[in-house]
Formats: sequence, C-alpha cells, structure tokens
Amino acid sequence: MGKKLYENVVVKKFVEKWAGKEAVEVLKYFLKSKRPLRDEVIAEKAGMRVTEVRTILNRLHYRGIANYDKKRDDKTGWYTYTWRIDTKKIVELILEEQQELLEKLEKEREVQENYTLFTCKGGCVEFPFEIAAEYQFKCPECGRDMNCIDGAIKKRHLSKQINKVRKVIEELKMLK
Ligand SMILES: [Zn+2]
Repeated sequence: MGKKLYENVVVKKFVEKWAGKEAVEVLKYFLKSKRPLRDEVIAEKAGMRVTEVRTILNRLHYRGIANYDKKRDDKTGWYTYTWRIDTKKIVELILEEQQELLEKLEKEREVQENYTLFTCKGGCVEFPFEIAAEYQFKCPECGRDMNCIDGAIKKRHLSKQINKVRKVIEELKMLK
C-alpha cells in the first residue's frame, strides 16, 4: 500500500496542500523505509535542510498524519525526534474531504434539476426565478440583466465531476 499511496495523485495533492510541495518527498522516504525515522536522517536522504523537514513534519503533525517520539541524548543533552507517518489517517482525511465535496456537488446538481436559475452575463450571482423576479431581473451586484441559465451544460458538467469524485473515493477505499 505504501508505494501506491504516494503515487496516488489525490494523495499527492492533499499532502502538498497541507504541508507544501516538498512534503511528498518526505512522505516517500517514510513509506519506503516502513519504519520510524529521525528528521535528520530524512533530511540527509532527501538532500533537504533539517529545519525544512521539521516544518513539513510539524504541519503533518498538526493534521494528525505525523507523530513523534522525543528522546534526550545523554551525551549531548540534545533532543532527537523519531517520526512515524499514519498512512491510514491520510486516507481517512482525504476520504472525508472527498465525501464532503461529493455531497456539495450532488446538492448543486439537485438545485439545477429543480430550479430554473437566473444570472447576469458576468455570473455574479445565481438566483431561482422568485428571487430574480424580486430584483426585477437586474443583477444586484452589477446591475445588468439577469437571464435564465441553460442548466443542461451545467448539469452535465456536475455529473462528470460527481463521477470523478466517486471514482476517487472508490480508489481511496481500496488503499485503506
Ligand atoms: Zn452581475
């Protein structure tokens, strides 16, 4: 599962979003080694600065993805941090995010199916007939005329997006 996880585009994007571009590299070393690693070791392997690696790990820690054990070196008096990556947590968090997105898209499609929506040329706002009528079909944002939106294109677009998200969710469930 390890290798598949960091090659998964959705996983990559998620990790990048929360911890920066370099985070994928850091994740890769963890998943390859399959055991806890010290931040200095990762920095050396990845050719990064230790502070950079720590920043990434702290960000992942904040999301509950990375955890550490802190130990004091008796000789030097310095602390060492040994980190673990919770891969299940990554998948869980992305699944949550994707489920939310799916719900949002499905609701949007429902609105498109049940209402005729009106908007101006700039697309500032979208209103159902009753509200657009209250504004006398003038956009409250820019003052231009509001016209009926051709829902078919939007509905098709939404359906496509919904199918995509469903596929992502299926893939993630297999990684779990
Ligand atoms: Zn407008």
